[in-house]
Amino acid sequence: MDVWLDRMSDDDGTGERRAARRDRAVRAAVEQGLLGPGTPVLALLDVTGIRESAAALRAAFTAVTAPGTPVLHAFAVKAAPLVPVVRLLRDEGIGAEVASPGELALARAAGVPAERTVLDSPAKTPQELREALALGIAVNADNPQELDRIDGLLRSAPTASPLGLRVNPQVGGGSIEALSTATATSKFGVALRDEGAREWVVRAYRDRPWLTRLHVHTGSQGIAPDRMAEGVAAVHALAEEINQRCGRRQVDTVDIGGGLPVNFASEATAPTYGQYARALREAVPGLFDGRYGLVTEFGRSLLAKHGTVVARVEYTKSAGGRPVAVTHAGVQVATRTVYAPEAWPLRIAAYDGAGRPKEGPPVVQDVAGPACFAGDLLATGRALPRLEQGDYAAALDTGAYYFAHHYAYNSLARPGVFGFTADDAGGVRFAVVRQPQSLEEIVTEAGGAHVDALTSPTPTR
Ligand SMILES: *Cc1c(COP(=O)(O)O)cnc(C)c1O
Repeated sequence: MDVWLDRMSDDDGTGERRAARRDRAVRAAVEQGLLGPGTPVLALLDVTGIRESAAALRAAFTAVTAPGTPVLHAFAVKAAPLVPVVRLLRDEGIGAEVASPGELALARAAGVPAERTVLDSPAKTPQELREALALGIAVNADNPQELDRIDGLLRSAPTASPLGLRVNPQVGGGSIEALSTATATSKFGVALRDEGAREWVVRAYRDRPWLTRLHVHTGSQGIAPDRMAEGVAAVHALAEEINQRCGRRQVDTVDIGGGLPVNFASEATAPTYGQYARALREAVPGLFDGRYGLVTEFGRSLLAKHGTVVARVEYTKSAGGRPVAVTHAGVQVATRTVYAPEAWPLRIAAYDGAGRPKEGPPVVQDVAGPACFAGDLLATGRALPRLEQGDYAAALDTGAYYFAHHYAYNSLARPGVFGFTADDAGGVRFAVVRQPQSLEEIVTEAGGAHVDALTSPTPTR
C-alpha cells in the first residue's frame, strides 16, 4: 500500500482544493448556526468533491476500454446508505450495488433504475430473489445453493435480470482481515481453487445458458491494488475458459467489484481511479478490448474523502499529564476507529470556536468522544494545536462507512448530515441530507410504543 501511495498520489491540487472547501464549510456551519453549543456535532458532505470523484471514475474507465464497451459503475450503497447521496450519484451516471432489502429500498427511493442496480448479498432469501428477478435487477449468486434457488424461480417466471456467479479467486488477504474477501476460507463466492470447484463452475455455466456474468470483489480497504488486479485477472481467465469450453461467448460481462483503497493519511487521493484502471488494463488487457462489458462496485473511494464529522469540544482536561479534549464525536459516528484504532486511524483537524482552522504549536493530546466507556477515543497522542473548550475537532475522510453508519451506543442521537456547495456569492450553501435524530425518535426506536409490553398481565403483539 505504501508503495502505491508513493507511486500513485494526485498532485494536481485536487486535495488542496478539497481541504479549502472543507475549511470554508466548517466556518459557514458555525456562522449559519448549524453547529454550536446546542448542536455540538454534525456531518458534512462535499457535493462538489463527490461529483468530481464520480466524474474521475467514469473518465478512468472510458480511457481504458474500447469505444462502445458497456460499463456500469454501481455505487456500493453500504458505503453511504443515504438516499440523497445515491440520488446525487445517479445524477452522475452511477448506479447502485445493493446487498440487502434495505439497501435495495434506498436505491429505489433514489430512483436508480433496475437496469443500473446489482444485487450481491451472501444471504438472499427466496423472497428477495423473486423480487429482484421480477424487477430485472442484476443478481450475482453467491453459491451453488443460491443457483439452485434461481433455477427454480426461472422455471416459474422469466426474467430480464442479468445473472452471474460470484467467485473467490483466493488470491489472499490484505492488511485488514475482516475486510479481506479473497482469502482461502472467505465466506464469499465459490472458492475457485478448492478441489473440483473450477470444473463445477464451468459445468454450472454450460448447464445454464442464462448465466452470463462473473463477479469478483477481492476486498476493501487494506488490499493492495496489485492483489485486486490479480483477482480480476483470475476471473477474466475463468471467463475465457468458460466461453471456450461452452463454445459460445456466454460470459459477456465481468463485474470486478469495488475495493479501491482510500488514503486516510493525507489529503491526497491515492491511488486514483485513473491509476487503478490503467494498472488493471496492463495486468488484464483482454478484459478491456471490447469483448466484455464491465461492472464496477466502488464504495469507499467515491465518498470517504468528501465527508467530515465536526464536533464541539465540550470540556478539556488533563489526565496523567496528557491533555484530553472531550468532544461530541466518538464511537457513535466513528465506530471502526474507536474499536480498531490501529486499522482505522483518522486525521483530526482543529478549528477554533468561530470555525477557523486553529493555529498554534502542536501539543500531544487525546481527542475523546461522548460515550461512557474508556476506549471512546477518536485519536490518542495526536499532535494538534491545543484544543480548548468551545473549539471544534473534525474527523476527516469520514464520508464512507462512518457517520452514515450510526452506532446507537448510549442512545446518542444520529447527527444531522448536510451537503455543502459554494453559492454564487462565494459563500456556502447547505442542504439537509439527513435530519438529526430527535429524542422522540430515539424513544420510538427503543420500543416507546410498547412501554407496557413486558409488564401488562397478557403480553400482546
Ligand atoms: C463492500 C463491497 C463493495 C464496495 O467496497 P468498497 O471497499 O467500499 O469499494 C463492492 N462490492 C461488494 C460485493 C462489496 O461487498
